[in-house]
Amino acid sequence: GELGPEQEGLVIAHYGQQLDVEGLEGENAGKVVRCFVRANIDSLVTGDRVVWRPGQNETGVIVARCDRQNLLQRPDNFGALKPVAANIDHIILVIAPEPEPHDSLIDRYLVSSEITDIPAVILLNKTDLINDDNREQINALLARYEALGYQIVRTSAAESGDKPSPEVEALVKGQTSVFVGQSGVGKSSIIKTLMPDEVIRVGAVSEATGKGVHTTTTAKLFHVPIGGELIDSPGIREFGLWHMTPQEIEYGFREIREEIGHCKFRNCRHMGDPGCAIDAAAKAGRISPERLRSFHRILQDMAEQQARGLKID
Ligand code: GDP
Ligand code: ZN
Repeated sequence: GELGPEQEGLVIAHYGQQLDVEGLEGENAGKVVRCFVRANIDSLVTGDRVVWRPGQNETGVIVARCDRQNLLQRPDNFGALKPVAANIDHIILVIAPEPEPHDSLIDRYLVSSEITDIPAVILLNKTDLINDDNREQINALLARYEALGYQIVRTSAAESGDKPSPEVEALVKGQTSVFVGQSGVGKSSIIKTLMPDEVIRVGAVSEATGKGVHTTTTAKLFHVPIGGELIDSPGIREFGLWHMTPQEIEYGFREIREEIGHCKFRNCRHMGDPGCAIDAAAKAGRISPERLRSFHRILQDMAEQQARGLKID
């Protein structure tokens, strides 16, 4: 049939060969249209900006993809990276006093953020659970990341009722965000303060699939009522846990990246050999013992994972 004029749109969801595109121009602004894709366009993901043409009966055809600001990828069940979402302003890495945060898990997410060039913000949730027993440890952990230049934000979803805390509002407003982090830290609860209805559906899927299981549920883009966009899926919430090469891990630790050029040895494992620049920087206090330990741990985990055949658990 006849197609209308070319115009810009935003991919908000993805179903096999079809995508939901929200119009960004003229009479189609804010309207959602089910679109097919011209065969010559490579894979499109939620968050992509596209050029599309309206057709009959609320359908359309995507004719081009606009340049991407960045791209978030995840491994499929065979370990191959697949694009899942594009044009993200920041990754909000949620941690909490309970479940207790682990440096190496936080650092895996941060390495992924550095590699994909999507800034990460660390959001401490459940501030209501901070007490004399855990305060010192949490403050020390946050201070380490603050010293590296990561933005730190604190909130309590439990205390913010059915609207976002001012801290979360300031973080999300006007940005395209994704929430990531360990199961149980309160991602669903925070999202629920932003998006009362949609989150219940996403959360339910997350629970059903369980931890560490690869899901095929694709990412969706939601408009947050206070302003801003949220891209979410159970898979995205744990996106950081893919296989990484030693070079990517070295790059992903900001303070190690700074020093790595000075290391004397090719293929150095940075385990304390004399002449290792990473060892020297750690001794000089430019790399914290916690981050160095986590760096070694991730290198080792990835090597073992590689040996097992890229299976992620
Ligand atoms: P998710 O797995 O990261 O999505 O975490 P959920 O949002 O499902 O939260 C896990 C548990 O922590 C639930 O029992 C929540 O009620 C609880 N929770 C979430 N936020 C807070 C908080 O700010 N304070 C406290 N005390 N509990 C919270
Ligand atoms: Zn070295």
